Amino acid sequence: MKLCDKCGTLMSPYKHNNKVTLVCPKCGEKTAIEKGASFKITEKINHTLKDTIVVNENTKMTLPTTKIDCPECGHAEAGWWTLQTRSSDEPETRFYRCTKCRNTWREYS
Ligand SMILES: [Zn+2]
Ligand SMILES: [Zn+2]
Repeated sequence: MKLCDKCGTLMSPYKHNNKVTLVCPKCGEKTAIEKGASFKITEKINHTLKDTIVVNENTKMTLPTTKIDCPECGHAEAGWWTLQTRSSDEPETRFYRCTKCRNTWREYS
């Protein structure tokens, strides 16, 4: 997200000849996007998701189950595990995974 230097309008990305340019829809001001800049954020998010999935896969055979409603499909049983966050004064995070649709969500204990 970038605001136009001239008029402050939110600029929208515009792809042309494999180059992405930010164009102001109001005054037409153009700014070249830094190479790869807009994709870095997406990569970071994907990486975090991947880490969570890896934890799921490693623990899927030994997960204890509990009676809890899956927010995705309404199934009433899910496996669960906890992860301690970095700071010890924060409560550990509890994760659930639906035994039916494999939907995973988190909850603070
Ligand atoms: Zn502008
Ligand atoms: Zn489910």
